[in-house]
Amino acid sequence: MPLDALQRPLRSLRLSVTDRCNFRCTYCMPAERFPPDYPFLPREDILHFEELARLAVLFTRLGVEKIRLTGGEPLLRKDLPALVKMLRATEGIREITLTTNGALLAGHAKALKEAGLARVTVSLDTLDPARFQAVSDTSVPLALVLEGIAEAQGVGLHPVKINCVVQAGVNDDEVLDLAGWARGRGLALRFIEFMDVGSAAGWRLDRVLSGESLRARIHARWPLDPVPQDRLGQVAFRHRYRDGAGEVGFISSVTEPFCLGCDRARLSADGHLYTCLFAGEGLDLKGLLRGGAGDATLEAAIAGRWARREDRYSLLRTEATAALPKVPMHRVGG
Ligand code: SAM
Ligand code: SF4
Ligand code: SF4
Repeated sequence: MPLDALQRPLRSLRLSVTDRCNFRCTYCMPAERFPPDYPFLPREDILHFEELARLAVLFTRLGVEKIRLTGGEPLLRKDLPALVKMLRATEGIREITLTTNGALLAGHAKALKEAGLARVTVSLDTLDPARFQAVSDTSVPLALVLEGIAEAQGVGLHPVKINCVVQAGVNDDEVLDLAGWARGRGLALRFIEFMDVGSAAGWRLDRVLSGESLRARIHARWPLDPVPQDRLGQVAFRHRYRDGAGEVGFISSVTEPFCLGCDRARLSADGHLYTCLFAGEGLDLKGLLRGGAGDATLEAAIAGRWARREDRYSLLRTEATAALPKVPMHRVGG
């Protein structure tokens, strides 16, 4: 099993199955940068399920045990449960999960569960219907996302996690409401610091609210105890409500970077391997694959790239690095 240049193993893989999305979240795909005629990847450039499954086998040989399906919006990819089934059949894969905006979840949760999906994370930044439509820049009503969350819980995609990006002046007034809502429903809420991902995010340091400040606010209302980290590579600082109402987590990638435990690789929908969320360049595995490379060549290419990996962007972040060109978030999926 290869270790990278900082002695980190490869354990988890994020597979982006499409670069398209039915939302235009202001911090990810702002509508002015992603208009209706935006040149998304043509269909022929997107990896087929068979190609994804073949690569997944090679990744497991190098240490990957967990796969998260993401996007763009992964539920826009036709017949996603069929991919889940194919990946489930891969020896060495312990768990397949999905990150979604939830708009199409109610209609898909049951089939995904039956196909072998373990859990789902739904991104949700607000409980206010008007604010929801403004932040996500969508006509999809909030109620549909809430229905998707309830359906996922109903079919046993348990525990459903909720990802909430907090921005000062945008939704920070809802932190306690969101925590109270999730606590009462058995949902594992995770607050994510606003990151300078992609080139479209319009990131500003003064919009970042530290995970620690949010933890303190919640702790003052509902006392919390830290949950010991159970593995290297864990990104959320988990905390348990002292009154037994479950957990809440803080993903503090800006103020408390966790690069030294980062064991994640990312594959974009067009088959490029990225070894960091903030990478500028990826390795073109699709080119190799479609050029006729055999498994041994592909495996050696992935292993070689991982062995050279020195990424630790969040440890090196400055105002200047925020301006560097990076892979867009909708290509590698968070
Ligand atoms: N469309 C799916 C969704 O929204 O869940 C999957 C892809 S989305 C890029 C994955 C995650 O990235 C979402 O939870 C989203 O909130 C998060 N994200 C996007 N831009 C971000 C930013 N600038 N800072 C922090 N998180 C961000
Ligand atoms: Fe789409 Fe997810 Fe990005 Fe929002 S965060 S625009 S839902 S890919
Ligand atoms: Fe991993 Fe890069 Fe994020 Fe650090 S900045 S945790 S290396 S993805």
